[in-house]
Amino acid sequence: MPKWFSETLHPSVRQTLKIKEVLHSGKTPFQKIQIVDTEQFGNTLILDGVVQTTEKDEFIYHEMMTHVPLFSHANPKRVLVIGGGDGGIVREILKHPVDEVYLVEIDEQVMTFSKKYLPTICKGAFQDARTRVRVEDGAKFITNQTDPFDIVIIDSTDPMGPAKVLFSKKFYQSIKRILSPEGILARQTGSTMFQPNEWMENYRQLKEFFLEVHPFVIAVPTYIGGFFSLTFASDKTNPSALDLEMLKARYGELRLKTRYYNPEIHQSCFRLPEYMKSRLPVEEMDRNAVSSTPH
Ligand code: SAM
Repeated sequence: MPKWFSETLHPSVRQTLKIKEVLHSGKTPFQKIQIVDTEQFGNTLILDGVVQTTEKDEFIYHEMMTHVPLFSHANPKRVLVIGGGDGGIVREILKHPVDEVYLVEIDEQVMTFSKKYLPTICKGAFQDARTRVRVEDGAKFITNQTDPFDIVIIDSTDPMGPAKVLFSKKFYQSIKRILSPEGILARQTGSTMFQPNEWMENYRQLKEFFLEVHPFVIAVPTYIGGFFSLTFASDKTNPSALDLEMLKARYGELRLKTRYYNPEIHQSCFRLPEYMKSRLPVEEMDRNAVSSTPH
């Protein structure tokens, strides 16, 4: 009898995946953790019943959550990742000539089991000489930071359980304090269809601390419900106005092998569908459109 896993992140919509094998199932001090081998997507990490990442489609989210902020910054050297225990975000960051990447993950077991069952996702990310792993609450970690970060990426679970603190004005205020003046924040802000208030609520909160706040969209098969939203925040950079030739030059310089990200998608992912754009304050609408004049 085939086994199935059913995700119930959304109250009235379920995603069900056919399972070949349950590789791990257990409880950590923070959440339930399962790693299952699925027919369609390969090994899949599930936390508190929510699909986090899969071997087959992880590249979409991990490439866009890293290369959009890093290629939007002239010279990113110090990067902070909060969450990200599967290692995919750090793997992509390390393709850039950064000096160091802090990975602050509250749950050590996520890293332990990701290393064991998701080696195609983390690859050597945790062992790289530039990676500094801290097992603690990201909200606490940033309160003792003094040296500025150029990029902060919040790759957390949804706003429940241990991640709740990572979706608040107080948290954004402390992020702002540890970012350098040209610093950039990027975070996941949920499904635009099934969690429509999440991206908008985070937009409003970020606008209290940053001049440039830009939602952008990606399509991830296992983040069901159409466009999935990420949000970019900075004081100095409007990412949708960056010159395409400059993005191509930065991308070309690293000779990156990507499967989703490219300079054209970097620009176009900020062009929002009307059901999102119409919710932005009027003065922001044009600013979120791609400007024609080179930046
Ligand atoms: N890519 C996934 C997504 O978009 O939903 C997230 C992947 S990653 C596995 C999410 C991680 O955030 C989990 O490992 C979880 O333990 C971690 N996390 C949740 N709250 C945290 C906190 N307050 N501080 C640090 N890490 C946290």
